[in-house]
Amino acid sequence: MTRTLSILGATGSIGASTLDLIRRERDNWRVVALTANCQARELAALAREFSAEVAVVADESCLAELREALSGTGIATAAGLAALIEAAARPADIVLAAIVGTAGLAPTMAAIEQGRIVALANKEALVSAGDVMTAAVARCGTTLLPVDSEHNAIFQCLAGNDVAHVRSITLTASGGPFRDWSHAQLAAATPAQAVRHPNWDMGAKISVDSATMFNKGLELIEAHHLFPVGHERLRIVVHPQSVVHSMVEYRDGSTLAQLGPSDMRVPIANVLAWPARMDTPCAPLDLAALGELTFRAPDEERFPATALARAAVQAGGAAPAVLNAANEIAVAAFLAGHIPFTRIAAYVAQVLAQTALPAPATLAEVIAVDAEARSRARALMEFA
Ligand code: NDP
Repeated sequence: MTRTLSILGATGSIGASTLDLIRRERDNWRVVALTANCQARELAALAREFSAEVAVVADESCLAELREALSGTGIATAAGLAALIEAAARPADIVLAAIVGTAGLAPTMAAIEQGRIVALANKEALVSAGDVMTAAVARCGTTLLPVDSEHNAIFQCLAGNDVAHVRSITLTASGGPFRDWSHAQLAAATPAQAVRHPNWDMGAKISVDSATMFNKGLELIEAHHLFPVGHERLRIVVHPQSVVHSMVEYRDGSTLAQLGPSDMRVPIANVLAWPARMDTPCAPLDLAALGELTFRAPDEERFPATALARAAVQAGGAAPAVLNAANEIAVAAFLAGHIPFTRIAAYVAQVLAQTALPAPATLAEVIAVDAEARSRARALMEFA
């Protein structure tokens, strides 16, 4: 049976992994909407290849290029946030939310409001909107499937079990490219070094988040919303091989883990085929060749991001949205060469400490909190 799919963030790393899987099963899928920010030529090529109904760029200045690249194809084109939201709300069996950052929040919420299946990679959207998003999921009868490898692992380990019996959930972290670096080395880390992840091939922002461990912090907040076991039951362990993607421990002492290659096509295939299974081209795990799997406690002194995220979850209200917004600004400043690597967490901590905003209760309020936290983060950096 043919299923319909829209991809928000089609030109990114998650978008590419998803389309790679779809390409291998073309007869089973029909593509509705594909979106990008400004990579118009790349988006047009994908829209042509997959005969999409509509291609949308967020940046309106890129529409002319998209139109020209798709002229004569019959594929509709559009630009801007309203067009992204319209594309996300188009009827589709599954909408993959893979825009990076809170730029993906409003389109993801538009897909959720349709009450279908939303496959969520865009963790920043859930971190910012938190209860506003989970309330919309419940209200609209939406099925929210986690794409993030850790959350997808937990989702698989929880299948057939009752969360009431969960003693703890452990998120694994590779520790990123700077796992064993000293303070002095971290202070001198360059953007090129930060985006070179040892195990995963990902977009620039999440690669930096992985290097600072903010990725794990955001994932802690994400897990808090996806799996209601109480934040005090969420743990983090560093596992450099990235083979065990996360674990769930039950009250009887059993721990279930999900293992797999470090390839996002595995969790993406899980959500695309859910509740069935589909083939992937990934090489099977060879545990004998791997030899050993190791685990160690995170070092929150060198990498304070996870402690900051835990504090934000405990504080609740606007704190997670503030943490996320400050991190997005700090990561962009680091990638642009404006601040050193070690200032990312320092700025986020400062913005969190100085920004007490009321808890957002609607999407508009989440967006307002995000905007206010961004402007405070920018101001702090300018005057530093
Ligand atoms: P990429 O940077 O590779 O891709 C981001 C996508 O979002 C691109 O299609 C980009 O378009 C689009 N985009 C960027 N800015 C905007 C904007 N302002 N408005 C609309 N669209 C925009 O990111 P990833 O694929 O690595 O990550 C996507 C999301 O998935 C992130 O939230 C990340 O945390 C999460 N994730 C990623 C994993 C990975 O392995 N990559 C693993 C788990 C989660 P354009 O190409 O035109 O810039």
